[in-house]
Amino acid sequence: MQNIKESNAKWIFAGYCLWISVASCVVDQEVMAQNKLSSEEIFALEDKYGCRNYAPLQVALTRGEGVFVWDVEGRRYYDFLSAYSAVNQGHCHPRIIKALNEQASKLTLVSRAFYSDQLGKYEKFMTELLGYDRLLPMNTGVEGGESACKIARKWGYEVKKIPQNQAKKALKDPNVAAFMVEPIQGEAGVVKPDTGYLQKVRALCTKYNVLWIADEVQTGLGRTGKLLAVEHEGVKPDILILGKALSGGVLPVSAVLANNNVMDVIKPGTHGSTYGGNPLACAVATEAIKVLLEDKLIENAARLEAVFRAELEKIPKSKVNVVRGRGLMFAIVIDDSIPAYEVCKRLRDAGLITKPTHGQTIRLAPPLVITEQQIREGASIIQKVLEDFKK
Ligand SMILES: *Cc1c(COP(=O)(O)O)cnc(C)c1O
Repeated sequence: MQNIKESNAKWIFAGYCLWISVASCVVDQEVMAQNKLSSEEIFALEDKYGCRNYAPLQVALTRGEGVFVWDVEGRRYYDFLSAYSAVNQGHCHPRIIKALNEQASKLTLVSRAFYSDQLGKYEKFMTELLGYDRLLPMNTGVEGGESACKIARKWGYEVKKIPQNQAKKALKDPNVAAFMVEPIQGEAGVVKPDTGYLQKVRALCTKYNVLWIADEVQTGLGRTGKLLAVEHEGVKPDILILGKALSGGVLPVSAVLANNNVMDVIKPGTHGSTYGGNPLACAVATEAIKVLLEDKLIENAARLEAVFRAELEKIPKSKVNVVRGRGLMFAIVIDDSIPAYEVCKRLRDAGLITKPTHGQTIRLAPPLVITEQQIREGASIIQKVLEDFKK
Protein backbone atom coordinates (compact mmCIF):
# COMPACT_ATOMS: atom_id res chain seq x y z
CA MET A 1 0.00 0.00 0.00
CA GLN A 2 2.68 2.35 1.09
CA ASN A 3 4.55 1.68 -2.17
CA ILE A 4 1.48 2.25 -4.31
CA LYS A 5 0.76 5.51 -2.50
CA GLU A 6 4.36 6.58 -3.02
CA SER A 7 4.30 5.83 -6.71
CA ASN A 8 0.91 7.56 -7.01
CA ALA A 9 2.41 10.56 -5.38
CA LYS A 10 5.28 10.38 -7.87
CA TRP A 11 2.84 10.25 -10.77
CA ILE A 12 0.82 13.10 -9.35
CA PHE A 13 4.05 15.07 -8.93
CA ALA A 14 5.19 14.17 -12.46
CA GLY A 15 1.77 15.16 -13.78
CA TYR A 16 1.97 18.43 -11.90
CA CYS A 17 5.40 19.13 -13.42
CA LEU A 18 4.07 18.27 -16.86
CA TRP A 19 1.12 20.59 -16.28
CA ILE A 20 3.48 23.37 -15.22
CA SER A 21 5.70 22.83 -18.23
CA VAL A 22 2.70 22.71 -20.60
CA ALA A 23 1.27 25.79 -18.92
CA SER A 24 4.57 27.65 -19.14
CA CYS A 25 4.83 26.53 -22.76
CA VAL A 26 1.47 28.19 -23.44
CA VAL A 27 2.64 31.29 -21.65
CA ASP A 28 5.86 31.25 -23.68
CA GLN A 29 3.86 31.11 -26.88
CA GLU A 30 1.73 34.00 -25.68
CA VAL A 31 4.87 35.97 -24.89
CA MET A 32 6.24 35.02 -28.28
CA ALA A 33 3.01 36.13 -29.92
CA GLN A 34 3.20 39.40 -28.01
CA ASN A 35 6.77 39.85 -29.22
CA LYS A 36 5.63 39.66 -32.82
CA LEU A 37 5.54 43.36 -33.38
CA SER A 38 3.73 45.01 -36.24
CA SER A 39 5.61 47.30 -38.61
CA GLU A 40 3.96 50.32 -36.95
CA GLU A 41 5.08 49.16 -33.49
CA ILE A 42 8.63 48.65 -34.75
CA PHE A 43 8.78 52.17 -36.22
CA ALA A 44 7.46 53.57 -32.92
CA LEU A 45 10.08 51.74 -30.81
CA GLU A 46 13.06 53.05 -32.79
CA ASP A 47 11.55 56.52 -32.97
CA LYS A 48 11.04 56.66 -29.19
CA TYR A 49 14.15 54.93 -27.83
CA GLY A 50 16.83 55.37 -30.46
CA CYS A 51 19.13 58.25 -31.26
CA ARG A 52 17.64 59.78 -34.39
CA ASN A 53 20.81 59.65 -36.46
CA TYR A 54 18.94 58.08 -39.39
CA ALA A 55 15.55 58.65 -40.99
CA PRO A 56 14.75 55.16 -42.28
CA LEU A 57 12.22 54.40 -44.97
CA GLN A 58 9.18 52.89 -43.25
CA VAL A 59 9.67 49.19 -43.83
CA ALA A 60 10.35 46.72 -40.97
CA LEU A 61 12.37 43.76 -42.18
CA THR A 62 12.70 40.38 -40.54
CA ARG A 63 14.23 38.01 -43.10
CA GLY A 64 16.45 38.06 -46.17
CA GLU A 65 17.51 35.60 -48.86
CA GLY A 66 19.51 36.47 -51.97
CA VAL A 67 18.08 39.60 -53.60
CA PHE A 68 14.93 39.57 -51.45
CA VAL A 69 13.94 40.75 -47.97
CA TRP A 70 10.62 40.23 -46.17
CA ASP A 71 8.90 42.55 -43.70
CA VAL A 72 7.18 41.43 -40.49
CA GLU A 73 3.82 41.23 -42.29
CA GLY A 74 5.35 38.81 -44.80
CA ARG A 75 5.58 41.19 -47.76
CA ARG A 76 8.53 40.53 -50.09
CA TYR A 77 10.79 43.25 -51.52
CA TYR A 78 13.64 43.44 -53.99
CA ASP A 79 16.56 44.95 -52.06
CA PHE A 80 18.05 47.57 -54.39
CA LEU A 81 20.26 49.15 -51.71
CA SER A 82 22.10 46.01 -50.49
CA ALA A 83 23.03 47.74 -47.21
CA TYR A 84 25.08 50.30 -49.18
CA SER A 85 26.79 47.44 -51.09
CA ALA A 86 27.65 45.33 -48.03
CA VAL A 87 25.39 42.53 -49.23
CA ASN A 88 26.98 42.02 -52.66
CA GLN A 89 26.82 38.24 -52.13
CA GLY A 90 23.06 38.40 -51.38
CA HIS A 91 21.30 38.13 -48.04
CA CYS A 92 22.28 35.21 -45.80
CA HIS A 93 24.40 33.45 -48.42
CA PRO A 94 24.35 29.78 -47.29
CA ARG A 95 28.13 29.31 -47.66
CA ILE A 96 28.94 32.44 -45.64
CA ILE A 97 26.40 31.56 -42.93
CA LYS A 98 27.88 28.04 -42.75
CA ALA A 99 31.39 29.47 -42.31
CA LEU A 100 30.01 31.83 -39.63
CA ASN A 101 28.31 29.02 -37.71
CA GLU A 102 31.28 26.64 -37.93
CA GLN A 103 33.78 29.23 -36.75
CA ALA A 104 31.40 30.67 -34.13
CA SER A 105 31.14 27.30 -32.43
CA LYS A 106 34.96 26.91 -32.32
CA LEU A 107 36.58 30.26 -31.50
CA THR A 108 35.38 33.84 -31.98
CA LEU A 109 37.84 36.25 -30.37
CA VAL A 110 41.32 36.06 -28.88
CA SER A 111 42.44 39.70 -29.37
CA ARG A 112 45.74 40.41 -31.07
CA ALA A 113 47.58 39.62 -27.85
CA PHE A 114 47.78 36.06 -29.23
CA TYR A 115 47.92 34.30 -32.60
CA SER A 116 44.87 32.47 -34.00
CA ASP A 117 44.82 29.74 -36.65
CA GLN A 118 42.63 31.98 -38.88
CA LEU A 119 44.30 35.40 -39.22
CA GLY A 120 47.54 34.55 -41.03
CA LYS A 121 45.74 32.31 -43.55
CA TYR A 122 43.26 35.10 -44.28
CA GLU A 123 46.01 37.72 -44.63
CA LYS A 124 47.92 35.49 -47.08
CA PHE A 125 44.76 34.86 -49.13
CA MET A 126 43.85 38.54 -49.34
CA THR A 127 47.33 39.95 -50.02
CA GLU A 128 47.96 37.38 -52.78
CA LEU A 129 44.56 38.10 -54.33
CA LEU A 130 45.04 41.89 -54.31
CA GLY A 131 48.80 42.12 -54.84
CA TYR A 132 49.97 43.84 -51.65
CA ASP A 133 52.59 42.80 -49.09
CA ARG A 134 50.52 43.31 -45.95
CA LEU A 135 46.98 43.61 -44.58
CA LEU A 136 45.86 45.51 -41.50
CA PRO A 137 42.58 44.01 -40.21
CA MET A 138 40.02 46.45 -38.79
CA ASN A 139 36.24 46.30 -38.30
CA THR A 140 34.30 49.17 -39.87
CA GLY A 141 34.90 51.17 -43.02
CA VAL A 142 35.46 54.35 -41.02
CA GLU A 143 38.17 52.60 -38.98
CA GLY A 144 39.77 51.46 -42.23
CA GLY A 145 39.84 55.06 -43.50
CA GLU A 146 41.18 56.44 -40.23
CA SER A 147 43.87 53.75 -40.09
CA ALA A 148 44.92 54.54 -43.66
CA CYS A 149 45.27 58.24 -42.76
CA LYS A 150 47.30 57.39 -39.69
CA ILE A 151 49.62 55.16 -41.73
CA ALA A 152 50.00 57.91 -44.37
CA ARG A 153 50.82 60.54 -41.72
CA LYS A 154 53.42 58.29 -40.11
CA TRP A 155 54.87 57.52 -43.55
CA GLY A 156 54.95 61.27 -44.27
CA TYR A 157 56.99 62.02 -41.16
CA GLU A 158 59.16 58.91 -40.99
CA VAL A 159 59.78 58.02 -44.65
CA LYS A 160 59.10 61.18 -46.69
CA LYS A 161 60.54 63.26 -43.80
CA ILE A 162 57.90 65.98 -43.69
CA PRO A 163 58.63 68.37 -40.76
CA GLN A 164 56.37 67.83 -37.71
CA ASN A 165 52.70 68.93 -38.06
CA GLN A 166 53.13 70.13 -41.64
CA ALA A 167 51.18 67.31 -43.46
CA LYS A 168 48.55 69.41 -45.37
CA LYS A 169 47.00 70.72 -48.78
CA ALA A 170 47.91 70.38 -52.46
CA LEU A 171 50.05 67.59 -53.95
CA LYS A 172 52.90 69.90 -55.04
CA ASP A 173 53.35 71.05 -51.50
CA PRO A 174 56.35 69.01 -50.29
CA ASN A 175 54.58 68.58 -46.95
CA VAL A 176 51.69 66.54 -48.41
CA ALA A 177 51.59 62.91 -47.27
CA ALA A 178 48.62 61.43 -49.10
CA PHE A 179 45.65 61.92 -51.43
CA MET A 180 42.54 59.95 -50.50
CA VAL A 181 39.68 59.37 -52.96
CA GLU A 182 36.77 57.06 -53.73
CA PRO A 183 37.12 55.79 -57.33
CA ILE A 184 33.36 56.39 -57.70
CA GLN A 185 31.68 58.48 -55.01
CA GLY A 186 28.94 56.39 -53.40
CA GLU A 187 27.19 58.53 -50.80
CA ALA A 188 27.50 61.58 -53.05
CA GLY A 189 25.16 59.77 -55.47
CA VAL A 190 27.32 57.44 -57.60
CA VAL A 191 29.48 60.22 -59.05
CA LYS A 192 31.98 58.92 -61.61
CA PRO A 193 35.13 60.94 -62.39
CA ASP A 194 36.11 61.57 -66.03
CA THR A 195 37.85 58.70 -67.80
CA GLY A 196 41.59 58.95 -67.16
CA TYR A 197 41.17 60.74 -63.83
CA LEU A 198 42.51 57.85 -61.74
CA GLN A 199 45.50 57.43 -64.04
CA LYS A 200 46.30 61.13 -63.56
CA VAL A 201 45.94 60.77 -59.81
CA ARG A 202 48.38 57.84 -59.93
CA ALA A 203 50.88 59.76 -62.08
CA LEU A 204 50.75 62.94 -59.94
CA CYS A 205 51.04 61.03 -56.67
CA THR A 206 54.07 59.15 -58.00
CA LYS A 207 55.65 62.36 -59.34
CA TYR A 208 55.30 64.25 -56.05
CA ASN A 209 55.97 61.26 -53.77
CA VAL A 210 52.49 61.40 -52.27
CA LEU A 211 50.64 58.26 -51.21
CA TRP A 212 47.43 57.52 -53.08
CA ILE A 213 44.78 56.08 -50.76
CA ALA A 214 41.77 54.49 -52.51
CA ASP A 215 38.65 54.13 -50.40
CA GLU A 216 37.03 51.10 -52.05
CA VAL A 217 34.76 50.36 -49.10
CA GLN A 218 31.70 50.74 -51.35
CA THR A 219 33.08 50.43 -54.90
CA GLY A 220 35.27 47.41 -54.17
CA LEU A 221 34.63 43.68 -54.28
CA GLY A 222 32.71 43.34 -57.51
CA ARG A 223 30.20 46.17 -57.21
CA THR A 224 31.40 48.00 -60.35
CA GLY A 225 31.98 44.86 -62.43
CA LYS A 226 35.66 44.49 -61.43
CA LEU A 227 37.14 43.16 -58.20
CA LEU A 228 38.30 46.75 -57.54
CA ALA A 229 37.00 49.89 -59.25
CA VAL A 230 40.59 51.14 -59.83
CA GLU A 231 41.06 48.18 -62.22
CA HIS A 232 38.86 50.01 -64.76
CA GLU A 233 41.85 52.29 -65.33
CA GLY A 234 44.54 49.68 -64.69
CA VAL A 235 46.05 51.56 -61.75
CA LYS A 236 47.11 50.52 -58.28
CA PRO A 237 46.79 52.70 -55.17
CA ASP A 238 49.50 52.74 -52.50
CA ILE A 239 46.91 52.11 -49.79
CA LEU A 240 43.64 50.27 -50.38
CA ILE A 241 40.69 50.30 -47.96
CA LEU A 242 38.04 47.59 -48.08
CA GLY A 243 34.95 47.01 -45.93
CA LYS A 244 31.23 46.41 -46.41
CA ALA A 245 31.05 43.37 -48.76
CA LEU A 246 34.26 41.96 -47.27
CA SER A 247 31.97 39.99 -44.95
CA GLY A 248 28.98 39.70 -47.29
CA GLY A 249 26.87 41.70 -44.86
CA VAL A 250 27.42 39.33 -41.96
CA LEU A 251 29.87 41.14 -39.65
CA PRO A 252 31.67 44.48 -39.64
CA VAL A 253 34.98 43.57 -41.28
CA SER A 254 37.35 46.08 -42.93
CA ALA A 255 40.94 45.96 -44.12
CA VAL A 256 43.77 48.28 -45.12
CA LEU A 257 46.27 46.91 -47.64
CA ALA A 258 49.68 48.33 -48.50
CA ASN A 259 53.22 47.29 -49.34
CA ASN A 260 56.08 46.94 -46.84
CA ASN A 261 57.56 50.41 -47.48
CA VAL A 262 54.28 51.95 -46.25
CA MET A 263 52.81 49.43 -43.82
CA ASP A 264 56.06 48.96 -41.92
CA VAL A 265 55.68 52.39 -40.30
CA ILE A 266 53.21 50.62 -38.00
CA LYS A 267 55.12 48.99 -35.16
CA PRO A 268 53.84 46.87 -32.26
CA GLY A 269 51.92 49.10 -29.86
CA THR A 270 51.25 51.96 -32.30
CA HIS A 271 47.87 50.79 -33.63
CA GLY A 272 45.36 48.46 -32.02
CA SER A 273 41.88 47.01 -32.35
CA THR A 274 40.35 44.50 -29.93
CA TYR A 275 38.12 42.89 -32.55
CA GLY A 276 40.33 43.57 -35.59
CA GLY A 277 41.36 40.30 -37.24
CA ASN A 278 39.24 38.11 -34.96
CA PRO A 279 38.94 34.46 -36.05
CA LEU A 280 35.23 34.77 -36.79
CA ALA A 281 35.78 37.78 -39.06
CA CYS A 282 38.67 36.02 -40.85
CA ALA A 283 36.66 32.86 -41.54
CA VAL A 284 33.62 34.84 -42.72
CA ALA A 285 35.62 37.25 -44.90
CA THR A 286 37.58 34.43 -46.56
CA GLU A 287 34.35 32.63 -47.45
CA ALA A 288 32.66 35.87 -48.58
CA ILE A 289 35.49 36.56 -51.03
CA LYS A 290 35.53 32.94 -52.27
CA VAL A 291 31.79 33.18 -52.94
CA LEU A 292 32.33 36.40 -54.88
CA LEU A 293 34.99 34.74 -57.06
CA GLU A 294 33.63 31.21 -57.39
CA ASP A 295 29.99 32.20 -58.04
CA LYS A 296 31.29 34.62 -60.71
CA LEU A 297 29.42 37.55 -59.15
CA ILE A 298 31.89 40.11 -60.51
CA GLU A 299 31.28 38.88 -64.08
CA ASN A 300 27.55 38.95 -63.39
CA ALA A 301 27.70 42.61 -62.33
CA ALA A 302 29.71 43.46 -65.45
CA ARG A 303 27.29 41.58 -67.73
CA LEU A 304 24.11 43.07 -66.25
CA GLU A 305 25.35 46.68 -66.39
CA ALA A 306 24.22 47.13 -70.00
CA VAL A 307 20.85 45.44 -69.37
CA PHE A 308 20.09 47.64 -66.37
CA ARG A 309 21.24 50.85 -68.07
CA ALA A 310 19.14 50.14 -71.17
CA GLU A 311 16.04 49.53 -69.02
CA LEU A 312 16.57 52.68 -66.93
CA GLU A 313 17.14 54.79 -70.04
CA LYS A 314 13.65 53.86 -71.27
CA ILE A 315 12.21 56.14 -68.56
CA PRO A 316 11.39 59.54 -70.12
CA LYS A 317 13.99 62.28 -69.48
CA SER A 318 11.17 64.46 -68.13
CA LYS A 319 11.05 62.14 -65.11
CA VAL A 320 14.59 60.81 -64.80
CA ASN A 321 17.09 63.47 -65.87
CA VAL A 322 20.21 61.35 -65.49
CA VAL A 323 21.08 57.66 -65.37
CA ARG A 324 24.65 56.92 -64.27
CA GLY A 325 26.54 53.95 -62.97
CA ARG A 326 29.05 51.20 -63.44
CA GLY A 327 28.55 47.48 -62.93
CA LEU A 328 25.56 47.25 -60.60
CA MET A 329 26.23 50.57 -58.86
CA PHE A 330 23.66 52.90 -60.40
CA ALA A 331 21.88 56.14 -59.57
CA ILE A 332 19.01 57.96 -61.21
CA VAL A 333 18.40 61.68 -60.75
CA ILE A 334 14.67 62.34 -60.48
CA ASP A 335 13.23 65.50 -62.04
CA ASP A 336 12.66 68.31 -59.54
CA SER A 337 8.89 68.13 -60.15
CA ILE A 338 8.75 64.70 -58.45
CA PRO A 339 9.84 64.28 -54.79
CA ALA A 340 12.46 61.50 -54.68
CA TYR A 341 11.40 60.40 -51.20
CA GLU A 342 7.83 59.88 -52.46
CA VAL A 343 9.24 57.79 -55.34
CA CYS A 344 11.01 55.55 -52.80
CA LYS A 345 7.79 55.12 -50.79
CA ARG A 346 5.89 54.11 -53.91
CA LEU A 347 8.71 51.77 -54.96
CA ARG A 348 8.39 50.15 -51.54
CA ASP A 349 4.65 49.72 -52.00
CA ALA A 350 5.38 48.12 -55.38
CA GLY A 351 7.89 45.67 -53.83
CA LEU A 352 11.33 47.29 -54.27
CA ILE A 353 13.27 49.15 -51.58
CA THR A 354 16.01 51.77 -51.79
CA LYS A 355 16.58 55.31 -50.47
CA PRO A 356 17.36 58.72 -51.89
CA THR A 357 20.87 60.07 -51.36
CA HIS A 358 21.47 63.82 -51.68
CA GLY A 359 18.07 65.20 -52.62
CA GLN A 360 16.81 63.95 -55.96
CA THR A 361 19.31 61.11 -56.47
CA ILE A 362 18.16 57.52 -55.91
CA ARG A 363 20.80 54.81 -55.67
CA LEU A 364 20.06 51.46 -57.32
CA ALA A 365 22.47 48.72 -56.23
CA PRO A 366 20.98 45.22 -55.99
CA PRO A 367 22.97 42.27 -54.63
CA LEU A 368 25.32 40.92 -57.33
CA VAL A 369 23.57 37.52 -57.23
CA ILE A 370 20.65 39.08 -59.14
CA THR A 371 19.64 37.35 -62.37
CA GLU A 372 18.87 39.05 -65.70
CA GLN A 373 15.17 38.27 -65.32
CA GLN A 374 15.17 39.78 -61.80
CA ILE A 375 16.98 42.93 -62.90
CA ARG A 376 14.41 43.38 -65.68
CA GLU A 377 11.60 42.87 -63.17
CA GLY A 378 13.19 45.40 -60.78
CA ALA A 379 13.62 47.89 -63.61
CA SER A 380 9.99 47.44 -64.69
CA ILE A 381 8.83 48.22 -61.12
CA ILE A 382 10.87 51.46 -61.30
CA GLN A 383 9.49 52.29 -64.77
CA LYS A 384 5.89 51.64 -63.67
CA VAL A 385 6.17 53.71 -60.46
CA LEU A 386 7.61 56.68 -62.37
CA GLU A 387 5.02 56.34 -65.12
CA ASP A 388 2.30 56.78 -62.49
CA PHE A 389 3.60 60.23 -61.55
CA LYS A 390 1.48 62.40 -63.84
CA LYS A 391 3.29 65.23 -65.55
C1 LIG B 1 30.23 53.05 -45.95
C2 LIG B 1 31.50 53.70 -46.29
C3 LIG B 1 32.47 53.98 -45.32
C4 LIG B 1 32.21 53.74 -43.87
O1 LIG B 1 32.00 52.39 -43.56
P1 LIG B 1 31.37 52.02 -42.14
O2 LIG B 1 31.46 50.52 -42.10
O3 LIG B 1 29.97 52.53 -42.15
O4 LIG B 1 32.20 52.67 -41.09
C5 LIG B 1 33.66 54.54 -45.73
N1 LIG B 1 33.90 54.81 -47.01
C6 LIG B 1 33.00 54.55 -47.98
C7 LIG B 1 33.33 54.87 -49.39
C8 LIG B 1 31.76 54.00 -47.66
O5 LIG B 1 30.86 53.77 -48.61
